[in-house]
Amino acid sequence: MSSRILIAEDEARIASFLEKGLRANGFSTEIAADGDETLRLGRSGRFDLLILDLGLPGKDGIAVLRELRDEGRALPVVILTARTSINDTVKGLEGGADDYITKPFSFEELLARVRVRLRGDRVPEPTVLTVGDAALDLRTRQAVVGEEIVNLSAREFALADAFFRHPGQVLSREQLLSHVWGYDFDPGSNIVDVYVGYLRRKLGKHRITSVRGMGYRLEGGQPSAAANDA
Ligand code: CA
Repeated sequence: MSSRILIAEDEARIASFLEKGLRANGFSTEIAADGDETLRLGRSGRFDLLILDLGLPGKDGIAVLRELRDEGRALPVVILTARTSINDTVKGLEGGADDYITKPFSFEELLARVRVRLRGDRVPEPTVLTVGDAALDLRTRQAVVGEEIVNLSAREFALADAFFRHPGQVLSREQLLSHVWGYDFDPGSNIVDVYVGYLRRKLGKHRITSVRGMGYRLEGGQPSAAANDA
């Protein structure tokens, strides 16, 4: 049976972005658009995890969380918060949230948090993804190429994360946009190409291959077929 996730988010495009992505990954979902509904569904016992936006109409996310925890409910909670609301986030963690993620977030990042929370502490999350002679450290958010440590910006890290989780697979621009830039992207922009350029400069040009008309592939995992380098 698939895990059931309650999405508490009043902004429709974000809620639907989350719902679509989570369902595509085998979760079942329900959306609550205000604090009272979140509280009602959160108490129902029907969910395995709550994704909780802090800025909800009616009761805000912190109040909802406090009530659930005061009632002794152990439902895992991942908070969604704007980068500018770090104080609220700290309150949220003190109020019993398990984790938080700042907006705008990438779907990959959210999915990783959700999976960790659903697994509990039974299976440790891998902290280093290795592909060929390169590795991505998920704790320090740095890459290691050979012996050299490479610092990455937040977006570069998110993009590298998508590639290192799918070595040898072609990832389309749309997939990468959705995973890294989330709901916050302009589908017509060339931002993916620009950031792939940054990653190539940092990780080595040969490491990410362009597959014409399809997208990009991280090399170094499985031996690849004839190069399609554009
Ligand atoms: Ca909101």
